[in-house]
Amino acid sequence: MADSWGLCKDCKWWQIEPGASVENLTLGLCIDEKLQTFLLRVSGNSGCNRFMKGKPAHAKGSSGQPPTAEPQR
Ligand code: SF4
Repeated sequence: MADSWGLCKDCKWWQIEPGASVENLTLGLCIDEKLQTFLLRVSGNSGCNRFMKGKPAHAKGSSGQPPTAEPQR
């Protein structure tokens, strides 16, 4: 599984605010199907082995405490 480890900023399951830029310290919601139930709020330089390369999704409320946005994927 470690082969698939990667950073949130390069992951298709990262969801950030509309207009937010993809940076190490940008905060967003993890919308991976198995992790979204935990409302994980992760930064661009967080990561895990559920990583899938892609562009982040965008939705208002993705960086809230807790995040309030619905997963867009
Ligand atoms: S926590 Fe893992 S699955 Fe979620 S956005 Fe970050 S790398 Fe992707």
